[in-house]
Amino acid sequence: MNAMEGAEGGEHVLDLSHLNLNSVNFESLSEKRRTETTQLHLCYNRLPALPVAISRFSSLEFLDVSNNGLSVLSDAVTALTRLRTLVAKNNRLDESSMPKDLSSLHRLEVVNFSGNRFEEIPKQLLQLQRLQSLSFGGNRLRHIPHEIDNLTSLELLYLGGNMISSIPVELANLPVLSYLALCDNRIQSIPPQFTRLHSLRSLSLHNNLLTYLPREILSLVQLQELSLRGNPLVVRFIKDMTYDPPSLLELAGRTVKTRNLRYSEKDLPGDLVKYLDLASKCPNPKCGGVYFDSCVRHIKFVDFCGKYRLPLMHYLCSPECTSPCSSNPQSDADSDDDQTVPADRLQRVLLG
Ligand SMILES: [Zn+2]
Repeated sequence: MNAMEGAEGGEHVLDLSHLNLNSVNFESLSEKRRTETTQLHLCYNRLPALPVAISRFSSLEFLDVSNNGLSVLSDAVTALTRLRTLVAKNNRLDESSMPKDLSSLHRLEVVNFSGNRFEEIPKQLLQLQRLQSLSFGGNRLRHIPHEIDNLTSLELLYLGGNMISSIPVELANLPVLSYLALCDNRIQSIPPQFTRLHSLRSLSLHNNLLTYLPREILSLVQLQELSLRGNPLVVRFIKDMTYDPPSLLELAGRTVKTRNLRYSEKDLPGDLVKYLDLASKCPNPKCGGVYFDSCVRHIKFVDFCGKYRLPLMHYLCSPECTSPCSSNPQSDADSDDDQTVPADRLQRVLLG
């Protein structure tokens, strides 16, 4: 108990870290001291479970229980209704360690469970609408739950060092996400819907299985940092892969659109009008054509900072429609549409 008294440093901070404790009951603390404590540090001890008496710290806003051997986060934590930061790094926690209901912790803004044994992000956490920062680095996650888009306040999501192989499109719905770390996983592709992540500043993708990036990544105007080293990114032009010839409907539709033929509901059945409205413009600036369902996957290299060439995926209207870049892979990617990419867009592209 001397250790506990000696640890009473700051007025509202109680630091009981690095004390080799395997249990703690807080009995020597006055009621006043307990209720005034807003920060409690219990890291680097040997606690197997979160002490039940913790529920008596009614004003607690910050709790760090990292580096214990915690396999249980007892229900007592749900009494800490003022808690804003919960850090429990490097323990032995998994899905079964968690209280079933965390709704009383609705003020939580920062949760860090990195270095544990989670195979899924617990569903209870996905109800915390004020959560701004969520870290599950170095766990055993295989998926990102579709419900991730419940976390509408999320600004930082750290999921590096897991076993994630695919990314749900719902991730692109997070309106204020600015820092996303997906490094050291098994990700093979990035959904083009990422273009909706308008606040994204840093995207960490190193050490995955990416061979290309969606062309849409160019529209992330806030992106300042992109790490890509340790991916099998294609480095040379790749011959077009698959192409199903267009149907007669598509050929007719292409003609109507490229020749600017006028049509209206009076001339055509409604479903044809709808179909015609679905035309996508061919991204080759020298083409000017359109396509509907039939297109060619194409990797195009775009220069960033005059130094790095990023392989970006886009679609062309036909195999004959070759962009300047693909017809001569040695020429630098300086085709017309690259003017839309300011050289200073990406301040740091880390290819290693
Ligand atoms: Zn084309």
